[in-house]
Order: sequence, then structure tokens, then C-alpha cells
Amino acid sequence: MASSKGGHTTAHINTLHHRLYHALNLGFRVCDEKEKKWKCTDIEIQRHVVKSISAFLDCFSRATANNRLIKDSISDIAGALVFILGCKNRAVVGLAANVVIRLIRIVPPSILQSYSLDLVESLASLLCCQQFDVSLPCAVALNAILVNVRETKEKEVWKIFEDEKTVVSVVSNLQDFSEGSMSVEWFQEMALLLSTIMLKWPQSRYSVWNNPALMGVLESVSQKPDMGLRVATLKLYSSLALCGHGASELLDNGKPMLDMMISCMEESSSQNARIEGLKLAQRLATGNRECLKMINMCSESLVKATVRTMGKWFLSSGKLELDQMSLLVEACKLALITRWEGQHHIYFWKYRISEALLSLVVENFHSQSLDGYVSLEEEILVAEKVLNANFLPSLRSYVWDIIGFLAAHCEEEFDSILRGDELCLNFLVTCACLTFSRSVQKGYQICQNDIISASHSESASRAVLMMIYSPSKYISSRARVTLSFILEEGGEQNLNSLVNFLSYIPSSGGYILPNILQTTVSLVGLACYSSIPQYASFILRKQGLEILLSFCSWYQRNWENIGASSFAPSPQSITEKRICCWVCTEDWDNKDAFLLYALLALAELVNHSFSGQNHAEELSMKSGNLKDRLCTTLKEIRDGTYGSGPRWYAAHILSYFGYYGFQHKLGKRLMGAYEDEECSDMRLLFASGNSASVNKVIIAVRCPMLLPPKEGAHSSSTISAEKSRRTVQEIRMSANVDILALVKLLEFAYSGYVEVESTTLKKLKPLAKHCKAKVLLQMLCRRRPKWGSSIPEIDIPLAITPKLIHFSDVILVPKETNVAGFNCRMCSLTSPHAHSHRVILSSGCEYLRALFRSGMQESHLDRLNVPVSWLGLTKLVSWFYSDELPNPPSGCKWNNMDTEAKLDELQAYVEIYSLSEWWIMEELQNDCAHVILSCLESARELSIKTIELAASFSMWKLVEAAANHAAPIYHQLRDSGELDELDDELVNLIRTAAVQFSQQGG
Ligand SMILES: [Zn+2]
Ligand SMILES: [Zn+2]
Repeated sequence: MASSKGGHTTAHINTLHHRLYHALNLGFRVCDEKEKKWKCTDIEIQRHVVKSISAFLDCFSRATANNRLIKDSISDIAGALVFILGCKNRAVVGLAANVVIRLIRIVPPSILQSYSLDLVESLASLLCCQQFDVSLPCAVALNAILVNVRETKEKEVWKIFEDEKTVVSVVSNLQDFSEGSMSVEWFQEMALLLSTIMLKWPQSRYSVWNNPALMGVLESVSQKPDMGLRVATLKLYSSLALCGHGASELLDNGKPMLDMMISCMEESSSQNARIEGLKLAQRLATGNRECLKMINMCSESLVKATVRTMGKWFLSSGKLELDQMSLLVEACKLALITRWEGQHHIYFWKYRISEALLSLVVENFHSQSLDGYVSLEEEILVAEKVLNANFLPSLRSYVWDIIGFLAAHCEEEFDSILRGDELCLNFLVTCACLTFSRSVQKGYQICQNDIISASHSESASRAVLMMIYSPSKYISSRARVTLSFILEEGGEQNLNSLVNFLSYIPSSGGYILPNILQTTVSLVGLACYSSIPQYASFILRKQGLEILLSFCSWYQRNWENIGASSFAPSPQSITEKRICCWVCTEDWDNKDAFLLYALLALAELVNHSFSGQNHAEELSMKSGNLKDRLCTTLKEIRDGTYGSGPRWYAAHILSYFGYYGFQHKLGKRLMGAYEDEECSDMRLLFASGNSASVNKVIIAVRCPMLLPPKEGAHSSSTISAEKSRRTVQEIRMSANVDILALVKLLEFAYSGYVEVESTTLKKLKPLAKHCKAKVLLQMLCRRRPKWGSSIPEIDIPLAITPKLIHFSDVILVPKETNVAGFNCRMCSLTSPHAHSHRVILSSGCEYLRALFRSGMQESHLDRLNVPVSWLGLTKLVSWFYSDELPNPPSGCKWNNMDTEAKLDELQAYVEIYSLSEWWIMEELQNDCAHVILSCLESARELSIKTIELAASFSMWKLVEAAANHAAPIYHQLRDSGELDELDDELVNLIRTAAVQFSQQGG
């Protein structure tokens, strides 16, 4: 006889099923001809039905849930439960919710899917119930349903949440929590529910992180010793941190949270707590800025906990427990924060990261066992055995990535901090080099389909690259020595095949990469081997320069087809598709990685050609048009929209040919000011009688050593009203200063870019050093760019900070006379204003330049009225000083602003738009239009107001563009009466746009 769970015989199940229907039949009502619905408001009958369902379900488990009796009765059971929950009879709903929990545990989600919306609705409406025995099971049941809800239904579920104010209820439940009067379990379940909601519905996050009362409660709860409470808050914080704004908010004053997080990561905590702690830290580290913010608060303890987790684990019964494995994976993922420069690096070494990493590579690893190897040869033999054993293969890529990042961000004098960890590091370097050279040897046989070994090849190659190019001489030379040793025998043959493969790509006429992995390995191979002189000569003889150059040009031409070209690991949280509001700048090597590798190789070859012994090769460089082609391509890359890594390296190679720095729009603008003697306020007089005119404020920011000593340190009290009268200060330069070199230095200070002949180079170097022009000096000395460094900016915004504000010679006054909370840090004026500089304003605006020198009355005033709001003025000033128009608040912040606040933002841009028409600043106007229209894109309801606003400024082009945005919702607007307020002329415009819109097929 068939028997299901716990000896329930078929006969027994039949009896219970029979009883169930007996009970259900008391409440069926026939709605229309075919359908009967369960509707009975009698409490006793409801209780009876709930108990009968419960007894019936007791016969089953998930394993026996495909019983026909269950399948046939599920719709009646769900219908009755939904109705009973909907009646909200306090005496029954708690019981009913518990039965729902059991139902979800037994019946597979796929069968329950069609009832999930009804269940969600009735459960959600009960969350605000004051009785814990009701709200608790409802929260548990709701969470269980939400975890499995299909993506296609998420919109409808969110609609229910909005109607039932679910998020508000859960938040206020959590807010009311007080230990002692409520159970820990209750808090945990509410927190779990909220974190599931935030995970799946990004729109719920804002109301949580923007609720200071709740955040206060969470902080105090998380400081309690109860582990259950801590894990629950960790989960909540993790879901919050999916929102970039939320993470940033958490990290402001986030010390208590971080301390709690790290204490949960420690060995003494439960597995679950440790994993949650590691996950939260990963999410907070999604973006570079936030990661640094976290690291600044807790770098040592965070790193210590991470490395300890990676290094201290034990094999019980020879196999890794499953949950231990997931702990290791999370720790490795967190250790990828080594991708970013920061003070945490030093702690990774301090807590012996090499040893921890080796314990993930070598089975039963003991650091003492490394003492025995005498020669490199012996070490390589052991490494070969280790790699063949293939221990923990799923962690291997993390190991290479982590050690690679660490090598890339090392200090030059790194070996002094290594303190006895050398043997481990050496062995890691050997293992990485060996893995890499195996991939090189495999050549065409590299198999992209074997994902694990492919990712090992890829990550080991990148790690070796970063070791070879490490600023640490120790790591770099160790990697070079090991690599050349391994390569020795088949070296030139292997190199030959790399070069041949690369030369094939551009010549094939294809426009996609033939084999991504092989291309990576080939390029990285060339980049690594080129750094070893004997191989560099070989590659040069094999036309390596020409081949790499053709590859770069080919890459540029096919850039769009190649797309995102690296599988360099991105922060794990970025791969979560549900993050919001994170502004993640592209990593150095994430964007255009192939181009970066090719340029690294090119840089080495060029360096080799220029180095002392190779004059012959240098000559061959200079003859013919190779040099011209090289420079043209490199300039295109440097000035293009490629990743910072390739752009930096292009600039680096160009420094061999006399081009230093990056060209900026802002730099070109400032160069205009430099060449315009009339706006200068300081003259440098040379012994020869020549002179150079400069602007104090720009010199103060860019090259302060050139200022006379007193000028640098004025206090803000000395701002005088006499600034409008132009006085030119004269400064006599020492006879030792070379005019040409100084002029070049000034040119670089103004524009961020300069071209220097080799004859001037020698004189410019000491001058740049004296003036602490770091970027220029680095380029003059042809020092390799540091991994991860951003493109240097012209930091003119410093001119409007309190330290340098005494150079200000004009005050900008907005049309508003009253701004709540306005407070000038520079002077005592109480009406809104901004301090500025005529030279910067003139450089960005022909009109103002003409005005300031017109001799008209206005030109002498130290105040300039700007007909925009205070908000608009701050954006305008920011544009003048950085050449970038600030964007309005984004993501959650923008979506949660009320219409009025959104309109305030829009108005600021419309005002600047209109002003830029009058001040003839076409580019700024285009930027404004772009911002305005993209705001309308996300909030069409603002179109009408924007049209009115633009019309009031007579900005007809903008009116037209906004009307096009309103066109798709023309009927809605007309029916709602919103159009009635508008001028007929404007209504006509929108109607015309709407007609056109529908003619174009919507
Ligand atoms: Zn967000
Ligand atoms: Zn002021």
C-alpha cells in the first residue's frame, strides 16, 4: 500500500481529504454558472476550514507534493485561505498565515505561482497588524512567496505594495522594535522581508535609507550582542547598499556599522554571520570612492579579517565543507578591493596575503616547506607538480587577480615591508609565470570552451603582466627572471608564433577578434617579453613595432564591434543586475584592455629603441614614416574616448617624441587667457629684458612656486574692493632661469600639455622639479604611468576654495536675493553671491571678455549681476571652472523629488540656456538642452511646465524640443485639462508635434 510521509497511508490521506472538502463545502458560493468561490464570513467555519487544511497538508512533504489530491485541491485551498486572510478576523488570520507558510514549504513554487498575487495582497494588508502572532507569520509567508515570484509579475506585486503601503508598514514595524517586549525572531523576519523587497524592487530603497529614524534604530540594534539581530541588520544594510546613494549614506558616519560588520566576519562568529559580513563589505566596495571611504575608516581590521578567512581553514575529512567553500569564495571576492589604490594594500602584506593565497593553491600548505628549495629550477619543478594537482580550481582565478592587483599597486621600495614573506611571494610568482607560459605554449590549442582553464590562463596572464610592470623592483625583477628562465628553450619560437598571430588579425580583414583568449595571451605575452631586453630586440627584428601599430589602428577602426573587451573582474556587485544609483567609473583596464596591452608592449619596444645601445634601431624608427604613423595613432588614442589606461600609455609613449601631457578643452581655453596679455596681472621679467605675462590665480593653482612668497598665504580678510582696477605686479626672475624652459613650464601649467624639443628638455626638467610640477616631471623623465592613475585634470576649481579666494576680483550675484541657509565662507555678505575671477570668466565667454575690457561702467564694478537663480549660478560657476555642467540629482534621488523640486532644477538649466544665448556660449547651451531633455525623458509630466518656462524666456528652439517630448502623451494632457492653462499658440505647437508623432507611427 502506498505510503507517504510519516506512514500516512493512502486511506488516511483520503479521509483527511474527505474531511477537508466537508469543511470547504460549508463556504462555497456559486458566483456565476461555472465558477464556485469560497466565501464565508463565519469565524467558526473559517477556523474549521483552516484546521482541516492544516491536517490535510500534514500528510505531505515537498517530496510527495505531486500527489494528485494536492494538485486537484490546491486552487480551493488557496482560494479559501486568501478569502479568510482578507476578512482579517483576528482570531483566525494568524492561524491561516501559518498554514500558508506550510503550504509554501510543501507545494513547489511553480504550482503556487498563479495564486501568488492574491496571497501577496492579503498577506501584505495584514503586516500593519499590531498582534505579533498575526504580523509575524504574515511576514514569513510573504517573504517566502516574494523570493520565488516570477520576474514577469514583479510590476504587479509592486503595485500591490504601493496600494497596501507595505514598505511603510514594515519600516514602521522595525522602527517600533524594542528588545525585551518583542522577540528577536520578529525583528529578524521583518528585516528579512524588507531586505528581500529592497533586493527585488530598487524603488523601495530610497524610503529606507532616507529614513533617519529607522537608520538610528538599525544602528542601535546592530550594536546589541545578539547575533541574530546583527545578521538581520547586516542583511538589511546589504540590500540598501545595492543603491549607490544608499551606500554613500551608510558610510557617512558608518564607523559603528563597519565595526559591527568586521566583528561578524571574525572566526568566532557563525558561518552565516561571516558570509553576510563579507557580502556587505563587497557591496559597499562597488565603487572606488565608496570603497576608499570604507577603507579610510577600517582598513586594517577589514583586511585582517579578510586575509584570516582566506588563510585559516581546515580540511576535515580531506574535503572542503560546502559552506566553508562559500566562505572562501566571499573572502576572495572581497579581497578584490586590491584593484584600487589605497592604504589597505600595506595591510594585505602585513597579514601575509601570499601565505594565505598559497594555502588556496597548494594542498596542505605549510610555509616552512618552502625553505628547502635552493634553485629556481627546483622551485619550478615543485610548482609544476602543484599546478598539475589542480587544488581548488574554482578559486584559482581569484588568487591570480588578487596577487596581480597587489603587485600593480606596490610601492617602489616594497621589499622592506615584505618581512620574511618573500618565499611565499616568490613561489606565487613562479606558479603564475608557469601558468602563463603554459598558455603561451598552447598557442592555437587554447580552448575557450573550457571555461575554468580559460579563466585561469586569462587571469594568470594578467597577473604576470602586473608583476612585470609592478613599481616594486623586487617583484618586477623576480617575475622577469622567472619568466625568462621558463621561456629559455623554446623562447624565440614561442615569440614568433605570438607575433605571427597578432600580425594575422589586422591583415585578415576581419572586424572581430578571432579568439579573445588567444588575443589576450598573445598581447600580454608580447607586453611581458618586450620588457626583457634580449626578447625586445628579437621582437623588433620581427617587425613587432609595425605589427603592434597595425593592431592598434585595426582596434580603433573596429572599436564598436569589439566592445567591452575584457573579462577583468569587475566588483562582484556590479554584476548584480539590480543595483541602482552607482556611478562606477571604468576601471583602468576594464575598458579597452586589448589596446592597453598592445600599448604596454609598444612602450617597451620604443623604450628599447631609444635606450643607449640601440642607436641603429632608433635610426630606423626615425627614418620613413613609421614615426609619423606611430605618433598620429597615439595622439588619436590619447585624445579619444578610450579607457584611462590606454590613454595614459599613449601619452607615455608620446613623451619619447617630445609631446607631454593631455589636451583638454579647459586647457585650450586657459591657453587663450595666457596668450592674451591684456588680462594678465603679473609680469615675469627676465635678465635679458624679455618678459612673460601671467595670471596670479592660475599660477597659484598650477605652479605656486612661481608666486612671490607673500602672495600664497593671504587671509580672506584682505579681499578688497579695488580689485577692479587692474594693476600688474612685476617680478624679476633670477638670471639662472632659462626663458624658453620657463615658457614651456607656463604653457604646461595653463593647458596641461606642451611640446618640447630635446634641447630644452634638459633645462626644463630641473625647473619642473623645483616647481613641483609632478605630472610634467613624470612625463619628462618618461616614468611609466602608475596602474590605475586617472587622467590628470586642470584643477582650477581650487581657485574658488577659501585658501585661494583672495585672488578673486569679481562677485557674481544671482537674481534671487534670499536663499535659505546661504552663508559665504569667504566674506560677511549675507545676500547670495559667488566669488569669481575675471580671467576664468573671460576665458570661457567672449561676451564677458569684451565687457570687462570695454571701459563701460559695468566693466569696473566688482559685482556682476547674472540673471539666474542661485541654483543656476552654482551650476554656471562650476561649468566655468571645470568645463563641465553638473548634472541634476540622479537615480533614486531624482525619482523621489517632488514635482516642484524637479522644476526648480529644470528652471536652473532653462535660465542658463537662455543666458548662454545672450552671452553667446553655444556649447554650454547645447549641454543645457541635453540635460533638460534627458530630465523630461525620465519625467514627462514636467513637459508642460518646461514649455511654459522656455516660452517665458522666448527660447523657441527649446519649446519645440520639449513639445516633441510631450507629443506621445498629448491625449492624456488634453483630457486631464493640463493644456487649458497654456497659450493657444503653445497648445498648437504640442498638437502639431503629436500629429507628427502619430504619423511617424508612434
Ligand atoms: Zn538608488
Ligand atoms: Zn562672499
